[in-house]
Amino acid sequence: MNERDSERVLALLMEQGYRIVSLPEEADLIVINTCTVRKKPEHKVYSLLGRFKRLKERKPQLKIVVMGCLAQQEGERLLDRFPQVDMVLGPDRVDEFTKGLEKAIDGDRVCMIGFKEDPSQRVLLPPFRSPRAYVNIMQGCDNFCSYCVVPYVRGPEKSRPSQEILKEVRLLAKEGVKEVILLGQNVNAYGKKSPGELSFVELLRKIAEIPGIERIRFTTSHPKDLSEELILAFKEIPQLCEHIHLPFQAGSNKILKMMRRGYTREEYLQKVERLREVVPEIAITADVIVGFPGEEEEDFEKTLDLIERVRFDGLFSFKYSPRKGTLASRWPDDVPEPIKARRLEKLQSLQRKITLEKNKALEGKVLEVLVDGCGEREGQLRGRSRCNRVVNFMGPLDLIGKIVWVKIKEGLPNCLRGELLLEEKEVLYA
Ligand code: SAH
Ligand code: SF4
Repeated sequence: MNERDSERVLALLMEQGYRIVSLPEEADLIVINTCTVRKKPEHKVYSLLGRFKRLKERKPQLKIVVMGCLAQQEGERLLDRFPQVDMVLGPDRVDEFTKGLEKAIDGDRVCMIGFKEDPSQRVLLPPFRSPRAYVNIMQGCDNFCSYCVVPYVRGPEKSRPSQEILKEVRLLAKEGVKEVILLGQNVNAYGKKSPGELSFVELLRKIAEIPGIERIRFTTSHPKDLSEELILAFKEIPQLCEHIHLPFQAGSNKILKMMRRGYTREEYLQKVERLREVVPEIAITADVIVGFPGEEEEDFEKTLDLIERVRFDGLFSFKYSPRKGTLASRWPDDVPEPIKARRLEKLQSLQRKITLEKNKALEGKVLEVLVDGCGEREGQLRGRSRCNRVVNFMGPLDLIGKIVWVKIKEGLPNCLRGELLLEEKEVLYA
């Protein structure tokens, strides 16, 4: 979501004649887009602000903007604590970026935070056209999982009008975009609060009708709201890619309850089973937290057990950190740091093994790949399979933006290496 906001600001600025520079020392304007979901990224912002303070001492005309969740959370306090900051902009005020910047250039210190009633957004295309584009379909969240700051910093859940989303996707398709990634904290709840609005699956169907859109993905799905209708949509809508990001957060019912997630491990496993029954080749990725308050060794073992049962295609794993204002922050953060670190390492090493085994199992298979850029080696291209795996292969630059078939030669820990095929062959959705 932050990535899409950064794209929108970049598009706004480029419209105004701004250009990207390669070093902060060369910049006249620095925009830091922030996230407060965990402690680590928040600390990074403070250290960047320290670095940019020194730059500003040497170059007083430099303007520094902090946007995103931290801006929303800290508001005026950021201006008080950091005299080098010229503007603080909340995530719901991105469209007002230029208005605020004009004031900042005139010497004001600007703070624009808070939520707007109207969830409509100005459609802005990123200045660099990739064949893949992010599209916000919802903002905010009403779930209040006990550890999570998102409902506080991103406000209540609001769905963007479907007409506006469809208009944006049509525009993207005209620009050559082939894959759209629909963004929201809980996309399954799309439209539920807006009478007369399309449901999420209806929205997916409408997007699939737009000529040129060959792939659709979405993130994030909340397990409690993953409906049978959506599971069946994977089979019914050809453009819907065989990948779902379905965070489980913990494998123990005791912890899930304290997290206020609204499902049990058994319910989660049932949803996974049903998904695989309908779409056997589906890739499943998830988020998981270790060291939540009260997490004992046996709870953690249940998390490991769930990972072994599901055999995820990828996992994003985090150490719990208390976030201001959340319910869990009122409880003692009682898992000591070294234990959190040990659990995280154990979990990640299990997942590395599973990912590598899954990647190796793809050796010899032919995958459909949307080429989105250059790989790390000279002459190498990079793309993603329908299941969202990164695939590197040698090929000419004019394939960027196209869908090709690649025969997998080697499954590596974080990606696949393959060979470009000139004809479609036995395509597998992986
Ligand atoms: N809406 C998404 C998650 C958004 S936040 C969902 O419901 O799944 C992204 C991830 O950050 C979460 O899935 C969670 O794993 C992690 N996270 C959120 N708050 C955290 C905290 N206080 N400590 C550690 N990890 C956290
Ligand atoms: Fe946070 Fe839970 Fe909402 Fe996800 S669903 S954004 S974890 S409160």
